Amino acid sequence: MAEAIRSLTHLLEVASSRRFLAVVEPGDRGLAESLPFPFVSIVSEWEMKLSLLLAVINPAVGGVLLLGPRGTGKTTAVRSLSPLLPDVMRSLCAYGCMPEDSETGGIESICPDCAKKLGQGDPLTFKDRSRLIELPLHSELADVIGGIDERAAAHQRMQIKPGILSHADRNLLYVDEVNLLKREVADAILDAAAQGVYTVRRGPISATYRSRFILVGSMNPEEGMLRPQIADRFGLRAIVRGLGSSTERWEAYQRSHAFELNPRGFIEYFREETETIRDEILAARSRLQGVQLAPETVRRGLDAIQKLKVSSLRGTSVLFEAARAYAAADGRDRADPADLNAVAALSLRMRRSDFMDRYATDLKQVDTAIRDAFQPVKRKKK
Ligand SMILES: [Zn+2]
Repeated sequence: MAEAIRSLTHLLEVASSRRFLAVVEPGDRGLAESLPFPFVSIVSEWEMKLSLLLAVINPAVGGVLLLGPRGTGKTTAVRSLSPLLPDVMRSLCAYGCMPEDSETGGIESICPDCAKKLGQGDPLTFKDRSRLIELPLHSELADVIGGIDERAAAHQRMQIKPGILSHADRNLLYVDEVNLLKREVADAILDAAAQGVYTVRRGPISATYRSRFILVGSMNPEEGMLRPQIADRFGLRAIVRGLGSSTERWEAYQRSHAFELNPRGFIEYFREETETIRDEILAARSRLQGVQLAPETVRRGLDAIQKLKVSSLRGTSVLFEAARAYAAADGRDRADPADLNAVAALSLRMRRSDFMDRYATDLKQVDTAIRDAFQPVKRKKK
């Protein structure tokens, strides 16, 4: 790369604004479908890329909702994250027992098998890559949370078969067309995302699974909006606008054409930047814990939230967590007011409730009318 890398955010700008001039010879296209388009080679769409990176750096922002019309590369962008996801310690057990569970919640908080292993000094976890799990379209509740294991039932045994949510543990869960999900399915996913665990009950048996995942949803607003209570539960909301200029459009076309001709060659062309961005994400993740909010940042953030009448408490937490992630991505240990500005729209848009505004105004009018209907009365002295 010609320029020195100053930060993750800088890298993103450099890689995506560079002209793609390489000649990629046609190559093996056999596995093209399973190879993700390199994240750093996505043209423009700064807001989408930034919000995805912030969610990976700091899962406490609570995931991302991508809003944009069809064909704007939302799914491509999410899939391109998969080589950038960090390694995680994964449980060897179907219930997701972790050694730290027994440290915080005692031996009762892990399953009997794992308690035995722990007693013998055997490991409960192994190191693994974080993966991208895609929720299939039209998933039913039983697919998502799990249901009766039919094969076990055929042997007269009642057993619960884990659902997609249990496989999402410590991974990134991508839900395309989240606005078209059945209400019960959307609720189950969001509850699990918020609590990090979920319980399946089927008749006399139940099982509890870990489900700590980064949730990314995408939707086309033309096909119907999300219920407000669902939209509020996504941390960041990125608007995917589509490419703005003919230059960008031509650049994007050349890149996707080169990728189709020779996916491996194209990925190789962006290998160095991909490795750098992966290292930068890891560095930002380990820096994050030490990133403090400057007092000025807290004051300005709270003032703005008050002024904007954002009633959702989640808005406050998302704004500050996103600012911390942004500071970490830029290699700083203190989140400044400028970091707030960088993430404010992503964190706070679509949080103000017009309904609650109207409701409060109506209520005030009714209260005034009631007060007016009663003449003021002086209380008699006893
Ligand atoms: Zn276990």
